[in-house]
Amino acid sequence: MESKEKIKIVVAIASFAVLSIFFTAQYRKRRYRKCTQSSCYLHTEPKPQSSFKRVLADNSYSAFKHLKLSESNSETSLNSHPYEAEISALLENAEIEFSFGTESMDLKMSDSYVWVETELQLKELADVLSKQRVFAVDTEQHSLRSFLGFTALIQISTQNEDYLVDTIALHDAFDVLQPVFANPSICKVFHGADNDVLWLQRDFHIYVVNLFDTAKACEVLSKPQKSLAYLLETYCGVATNKLLQREDWRQRPLSVEMLEYARTDAHYLLYIANCLIAELRQHDSENSCCPDDKLHFVLEASRRSNTVCLQLYIKEIEITPGESAASSIISRHLNGQGGISSKACDLQFQDLVRRLCTWRDLMARVHDESLRYVLSDQAIIALADKVPTTQKEICTLISQADLNVDSLSSSSILPSPSPVVCSHLEDFNYLFQDKMGKLDDVFLEILQKHLGPEGSCPLSVFNYAILSKTNLKLTYRLVSKQNGIKNSKQVGQKASRELFVKKFSCKSPVYHNCRIFASDGRLLCYCDRRKLEWYVRRGLAKLVDDNPLAIMLLFEPKGRPEDEDNDFYVQSKKNICVGCGERNHYLRYRIIPSCYRMHFPEHLKSHRSHDIVLLCVDCHEVAHSAAEKYKKKIAAEFGIPLFVLKVVDSREAQVASQLSTSEVNTVEAGVSPLQLRTAAMALLRHGPRMPSKRREELRQTVMKYYGGREITEEDLEKALLVGMSPHERKRLERKKGMSLKHSKGTGFPNKEQESNARSMGTSPIDNALKVDGEGGLNTTKGEACGKQENGNDLEITMEVLAGDSNNLSPDRSEMSEMKDMCVMDTDNCESRSQSEGTLDLFYPKSDGNASPKHNPKLSLLGHGPHGKEVVDHLLKEYGEDGIREFCQRWRQAFVEAIHPRFLPAGWDVMHSGRRDFGEFSVYNPAKKAFVPADG
Ligand code: AMP
Ligand code: MN
Ligand code: ZN
Repeated sequence: MESKEKIKIVVAIASFAVLSIFFTAQYRKRRYRKCTQSSCYLHTEPKPQSSFKRVLADNSYSAFKHLKLSESNSETSLNSHPYEAEISALLENAEIEFSFGTESMDLKMSDSYVWVETELQLKELADVLSKQRVFAVDTEQHSLRSFLGFTALIQISTQNEDYLVDTIALHDAFDVLQPVFANPSICKVFHGADNDVLWLQRDFHIYVVNLFDTAKACEVLSKPQKSLAYLLETYCGVATNKLLQREDWRQRPLSVEMLEYARTDAHYLLYIANCLIAELRQHDSENSCCPDDKLHFVLEASRRSNTVCLQLYIKEIEITPGESAASSIISRHLNGQGGISSKACDLQFQDLVRRLCTWRDLMARVHDESLRYVLSDQAIIALADKVPTTQKEICTLISQADLNVDSLSSSSILPSPSPVVCSHLEDFNYLFQDKMGKLDDVFLEILQKHLGPEGSCPLSVFNYAILSKTNLKLTYRLVSKQNGIKNSKQVGQKASRELFVKKFSCKSPVYHNCRIFASDGRLLCYCDRRKLEWYVRRGLAKLVDDNPLAIMLLFEPKGRPEDEDNDFYVQSKKNICVGCGERNHYLRYRIIPSCYRMHFPEHLKSHRSHDIVLLCVDCHEVAHSAAEKYKKKIAAEFGIPLFVLKVVDSREAQVASQLSTSEVNTVEAGVSPLQLRTAAMALLRHGPRMPSKRREELRQTVMKYYGGREITEEDLEKALLVGMSPHERKRLERKKGMSLKHSKGTGFPNKEQESNARSMGTSPIDNALKVDGEGGLNTTKGEACGKQENGNDLEITMEVLAGDSNNLSPDRSEMSEMKDMCVMDTDNCESRSQSEGTLDLFYPKSDGNASPKHNPKLSLLGHGPHGKEVVDHLLKEYGEDGIREFCQRWRQAFVEAIHPRFLPAGWDVMHSGRRDFGEFSVYNPAKKAFVPADG
């Protein structure tokens, strides 16, 4: 070869190399740029399922709810098979004659088929099917771009026709086919129905009753193979390309091959079933001489088929999301696959794998994607191994890992890194940085980041429930961090007030005249227009009336008005402070303090909404402090002290309220059990670490309770239980299975138990605090650190209870309102306290009705005992009229304190508390007296 040519070749090679390096670099850059976009990819990439309005299996960590046919067995058999009886009958008495009459059937697949994509067509199909004795079914699923997968196509073949049903277009209308599938006198032929049966339940609440599964027949007949391909080839001489099974069945229109394939899967099933039944029959007739000891073939095939129908779809739920995937990745590496086995023993590696798996699980649910689409196992390993520090490095690591591992497999077709990773890269910094934090914190904060008020990702029917079931805690974490409540000393009075307004007042109107109905037509609540629009915009509800506006929810809300005493919500009111007319913020205020009302006879409580009004934060404060004063007045007048004083031993707590009457005359002198308990708690948990001055203050509080003597740790522990009734104590112990360090049978949780309990949702301490009857929990300065967690939980409760309160985006607040509709009776804000410069923490008042399981009436905390004594006294001395008069006094006191100018028409200090009947109502007792005899 001449040197010239050699040079040419070298130059060519060199330039090729340069070019390829250049293009690779360009490609990498492009990919990286693509990878660093910050907005969620879903905003620009709508998926077919985003048009679904109703999903039965959402992506939340909650169990699947099966169809319930009768209310009667709903209690006992939660999630039992709705057609268990019908299927059992088939199993016991499977004498079904299979005469499919396919003799006349044209085996050859014609060119014509019916594509079903409108509701009308679907109804027509249901009609056709209801007249069949048998039809064949197959389904195609999509699972890559969905977390739980969804049915993308259903093929149904009768003897005369092949139907291809577009289950994406008809997703919300599919109920129409429920009856034919559940009809025991129509036989459904499937091949290998195990999955199809569950998928139909998951997506449509369709339950198959009376199944003939050709795969089961193969089993019974001991066929060499039981695949559909085998049967098609053997009985019909048809070859299929089963690879088409893995196509993307969401695409529309379907390709010619896919259409052909889909039809083939159902078209020949009736014919094949007929052949198999003939064979089964033949075996039976051969065995007819000795029927007892032989397998009855037809029966057995039918029985095995219908056993498949009895299966129920379940959502697998892990306690720690992603945990099982993480364990399997880690154990695979401990076993030395993948070449970095030494790493697998590394705790940091394991921790990162767990975090990444949790993140992947959460992100897959939030975006409704499969795990493998979000992030591959090999990418997780690479990330946990290398611990990348830059976003670029993260992207490179992921794409390399996916390239290295079986580049032949389908996974290499997937974008790597996935759009999920690319548009949420900041999460990784977070995952990698916060190495010491707890996994569930990471998990919660990420969820907040994506689906929270200013979340990056779209909310859908698939992920709505994740948020609505988790955002309580999220809000608390976010709010407490943002506002720095951690150091309550830094929160000045002004800031505190602002925060109070922000967090607890109802910024958007509480009362509107738009209505929300449940899917069964029951009125859930009145609300504002924006809320309606929110639901409708997201396809979570449909408009049922436009004047005045009304919607019907397409999902089952967590609470119903009738769950609790929620009649308040089914009324319409003005959204202003009744005191001054303020429109921007207000909260509910109870005119009759709960400490009394909770002890009223039931029928006198019924008119609660009359005595619950909206007040702005300022009027609220005025009203509250006036009420506190008025309580003292009542206490003096009746000689019934507000606080229990000096209970020497917790055992004596039961008699304390009797003792106190005689022993105490100044209501100011005592230590409230609540004060006592918070002081004791703070000392126990943080005593050694708190400033000595504060420690001494708290010690004095506790000592005052013990009559001024020196106190021991045991005393502190005992003090924690003061005010709890024996019943409450027992409940606490039973619930948490814990015991006191010093005294037997009483419960102060140790740190470990406490944190366990907290991670499960409630800490024993929370519970201990929550049994308070009055509901007010004042954080005074020094205890803040000790009580922070409890306090925050309470705040959240409050925030959610306040429902439409807070100035978070309407979306979130509205959701939380709807979600916890049943607990929105939150007007216990009267406990807004007098403490200086701190944010007061409230929690839902145990109102006697609020939670039947708790019995706050027994509690000695707060003003509960005082209230009970007053009410008992009134009832004894004056009967129910005494109570009515008492209420009137409180209304009068309220009017005097606030001079309300904006009370609703009809509000009256003299309000009877009896049921008000319309002037012309025949039930009106006054009217009755005048009804003429002939009237
Ligand atoms: P078939 O019962 O063969 O019609 O399959 C029904 C659905 O199951 C298909 O649409 C696929 O989503 C899924 N499927 C079945 N087998 C496989 C497989 N080997 N790989 C991927 N997906 C499959
Ligand atoms: Mn198929
Ligand atoms: Zn997103």
